[in-house]
Amino acid sequence: SVTKLLLLFTVSSGGLLAYSESKSGPAAFDVESSPSDGKKKKVVVLGTGWAGTSFLKNLDISSYDVQVVSPRNYFAFTPLLPSVTCGTVEARSIVEPIRNIIKKKSGEIQFWEAECVKIDAANKKVLCRCNDSGHFVGKGEFLLDYDYLVIALGAEVNTFNTSGVIEHCHFLKEIEDAQKIRRSVIDCFERAIIPNLTEEERRTNLHFVIVGGGPTGVEFAAELHDFVQEDLVKLYPVVQDLVKITVIQSGDHILNAFDERISSFAEQKFQRDGIELLTGSRVVGVSNEAITLKMKSKGEISSVPYGMVVWSTGIRTRPVVSDFMDQIGQSNRRALATDEWLQVKGCNNVYALGDCATINQRKVMEDISTIFSAADKDNSGTLTVEEFRDVIDDILVRYPQIELYLKSKHLQHITDLLKDSETNDGKDLDIEKFKSAFSHVDSQMKTLPATAQVASQQGTYLARCFNHMEESKVNPEGPLRFRESGRHQFRPFQYKHFGQFAPLGGEQTAAELPGDWVSIGHSTQWLWYSVYASKQVSWRTRVLVISDWTRRFIFGRDSSRI
Ligand code: FAD
Repeated sequence: SVTKLLLLFTVSSGGLLAYSESKSGPAAFDVESSPSDGKKKKVVVLGTGWAGTSFLKNLDISSYDVQVVSPRNYFAFTPLLPSVTCGTVEARSIVEPIRNIIKKKSGEIQFWEAECVKIDAANKKVLCRCNDSGHFVGKGEFLLDYDYLVIALGAEVNTFNTSGVIEHCHFLKEIEDAQKIRRSVIDCFERAIIPNLTEEERRTNLHFVIVGGGPTGVEFAAELHDFVQEDLVKLYPVVQDLVKITVIQSGDHILNAFDERISSFAEQKFQRDGIELLTGSRVVGVSNEAITLKMKSKGEISSVPYGMVVWSTGIRTRPVVSDFMDQIGQSNRRALATDEWLQVKGCNNVYALGDCATINQRKVMEDISTIFSAADKDNSGTLTVEEFRDVIDDILVRYPQIELYLKSKHLQHITDLLKDSETNDGKDLDIEKFKSAFSHVDSQMKTLPATAQVASQQGTYLARCFNHMEESKVNPEGPLRFRESGRHQFRPFQYKHFGQFAPLGGEQTAAELPGDWVSIGHSTQWLWYSVYASKQVSWRTRVLVISDWTRRFIFGRDSSRI
């Protein structure tokens, strides 16, 4: 019955999550500055990534004068970037011109291919500069006024100021990075077969090092392994035994944000595939010939010669966002802090979404305590199993991201407590014990992961807020907890987690699905194909991606260095 209860709790929370999404709407706005004088308010959107594009796709632009600024005039489907590095999918198949997206909207949106270099929230202006690559005639700088600013600038690669990384490593963040990696892999093979090299030199040329054992690093290692085994060894048979792929990870395990079962399956698979894992090691410098490593436990320093390095260790804020954070007193933060309605703290009418932002939640534990107390109607300090189940449902409706952390250890803790109560003849459950199970996850619950899923849900949410702005003034829909201080105009943003994938090569993928489900293997790879095909932003890219996969099945990957 413990299992039944947990199943019920998972299923019912899923149902409630779906319910909450359909009801959840839109966010806080400054009522005074909403369009009432008949003149359209100006909305400036910075960035055309996951957050910016999903905002634009869902915005009803008939009520706004919208301008979009981005140095890239396309949207890139980043989850398929690792596939571009080895030619499994072509770069052009995963990008959609932003003008194609906006031309489908009934109304006018202006797009400026430029970079925002300064945000001036006090004067409601942004300073933009045209891309300086190529020949540009004219001033190249312009100012845009806004009534509402949507910051969806993403983030940049974090090198942790490690010396030599910028100069000698590849990154995997943008389309250009993936294209460079693809050329570089082929270069390494071509270099390795040049006459008059020693075997050691050939080995070094064919040593591919990936720094970072997160999802991107692991997926790239798996793609590269497949490319080498399925295509390149046939073209470069003389050096096939000299190829080596190494993943360096500072933590003790790769994929450590995933379920333990996935992480250990990935480690075992890599071991079988001959991919070397150097865990517990930190890169302290990179020269043009070797990587310097420090073992975290022994402090030992070693040097690893390489042919190519891909640096994939995480992200940090872009300079323009850091500068803005300094202006508004958020200097010491990891990302721009917003409230639960995605409005930047302390800045009216400025919103931040996606990787550049972090939601600063109110005290989560306080809220959880209130829910527990409200359920304890007779003040006995205990709840029945039924009441406890209602409490869990209520908590998950307010904080769906808890589901992410109610795994393994924490879920186990709750299961153990329930078991205890069963052995005590179904005696009531001690509230304090259960509350302490939640306190473990308190700090993690405050931040959402930097993923496309979060960015795109935030974009959709904010667009709905903009679309309902007038209507919500008459019928506010905010939560009851704001009643005393004037009910809030909109429900706060609620993230719904649909799970995550980790492709591991050899047509095998691991998936972590909502409700603590883990699925690994060939069938999950087909699930991955279906999900990623369905998530494409247009039919054009969907057809291109599927035809690339088919081409790869039939003809293999293209190894020309173009
Ligand atoms: P981005 O998508 O990075 O968009 C930022 C936008 O801002 C871009 O259009 C950029 O051109 C623009 N910009 C940059 N600087 C300026 C400027 N100064 N002025 C104006 N515009 C500017 N997430 C998942 O959920 N699942 C996955 O499988 C997954 N796989 C990934 C694989 C890779 C290789 C990478 C790199 C990321 C992956 N992610 C995945 C993470 C996901 O891509 C990011 O979380 C997501 O892109 C964040 O969206 P965003 O809109 O905040 O930023």
